[in-house]
Amino acid sequence: MFSLLPYNTFGLEVQADAGVVVRSRHDLQLPLADPYLIIGRGSDVLFTDDFAGTALIAGVRGIEVQHTGRSFEVRVGAGEILDELIVTLLQQGITGLENLSAIPGTVGAAPIQNIGAYGVEIGDYITSVEAVDLRSGQYVILSREECCFGYRDSYFKQHKEEKLFVLYVNLSFPDRFIPHLTYQGLKDKELKDAQAVRAEVMALRARKLPDPRFVGNAGSFFKNPVVDKNTVERLRAQWPDMPVFTAGKDRYKLAAGWLIDKADCRGITHGHAGTWEHQALVLVNRGQAKPHEIVSLGKYICTEVAHKFGVELVPEVRLYGRYGEVEWNSL
Ligand code: FAD
Ligand code: NAP
Repeated sequence: MFSLLPYNTFGLEVQADAGVVVRSRHDLQLPLADPYLIIGRGSDVLFTDDFAGTALIAGVRGIEVQHTGRSFEVRVGAGEILDELIVTLLQQGITGLENLSAIPGTVGAAPIQNIGAYGVEIGDYITSVEAVDLRSGQYVILSREECCFGYRDSYFKQHKEEKLFVLYVNLSFPDRFIPHLTYQGLKDKELKDAQAVRAEVMALRARKLPDPRFVGNAGSFFKNPVVDKNTVERLRAQWPDMPVFTAGKDRYKLAAGWLIDKADCRGITHGHAGTWEHQALVLVNRGQAKPHEIVSLGKYICTEVAHKFGVELVPEVRLYGRYGEVEWNSL
């Protein structure tokens, strides 16, 4: 048996039948016996059960930097830790990812949900992604366009059946600092360089989010719902202070954390699971939680939010059961 405890930031005591750290494509003995799953650090995953198969751990290392004159071209192994990459880049004067500071997890997982924070998305900087198709064994390179990056979305999420194992991520950065300071907490500050932005982002996050080393969690459990104008008007009539952000033509993003808070679910505890006192969107393991307790709390929150606002919450975290990925509605 292979413990998945180091590979899920919820801190759940779950196991896989076997585990392989993939340091190069040659560690992948294709074709693979079903079932298998790909995992980085498990900071966007909820294991709902033990896994009756092989966990493939992304372990490809290496950071190569080329200065082309007007930009920096960077190729990074999927198993590198994103936050360590940011530190390495900033030390070399390469800026762009500072708003993504302190997001846990690997570089290989970053394009999967096009991670984002404080108005910056990783897809803004990705030029291509190198991967192995685990079914055919083919090496594929997806251009930025082919990655189809959207809001916490990508080709990899839209085509889960393709089983693409990301090996390298290629990124391009301008050779000057372009600040992104539109979010509250950043916009009123005198942040003169990328190091200052990183320090501020880290301070903001430390105040608001639980550190998975001490409190098990997988960040935002649910996505921010994106709704139409009628829904916004209906809700604003009753809750004029409800935060709303534009999200494309006639689409509006609501803050899931605000909805959960107003549905009286902030800081609650059910069994050994709970919601974080400073950000209700984060479900936490209060110690010794079992997977079903996290699921049950998530379901309760969905019911309360739907009841109060008529809005459906959908998990952002990926759910893995005994034989592979499972849908929220099937639990
Ligand atoms: P995992 O959780 O291991 O995997 C996530 C998914 O990607 C799985 O479906 C897995 O199969 C797949 N995957 C992983 N590696 C590969 C690979 N090499 N090839 C193919 N598929 C792969 N996310 C944000 O977007 N913004 C935030 O600000 C943010 N803040 C967070 C704060 C906290 C405290 C926590 C715990 C999480 C936060 N997250 C955030 C979520 C999470 O950190 C990111 O989604 C991160 O990219 C997950 O990386 P990981 O290596 O842990 O991936
Ligand atoms: P926050 O600043 O309190 O904002 C609440 C929500 O409102 C966020 O989800 C954010 O959407 C949205 N928002 C705020 N200002 C916005 C603006 N100027 N333009 C568009 N949308 C805006 O959020 P927080 O909880 O402290 O998190 C801060 C950032 O870290 C956010 O970007 C959040 O996504 C990210 N984060 C993500 C995770 C995760 O697991 N995915 C976990 C923790 C933090 P967006 O989420 O679209 O930015």
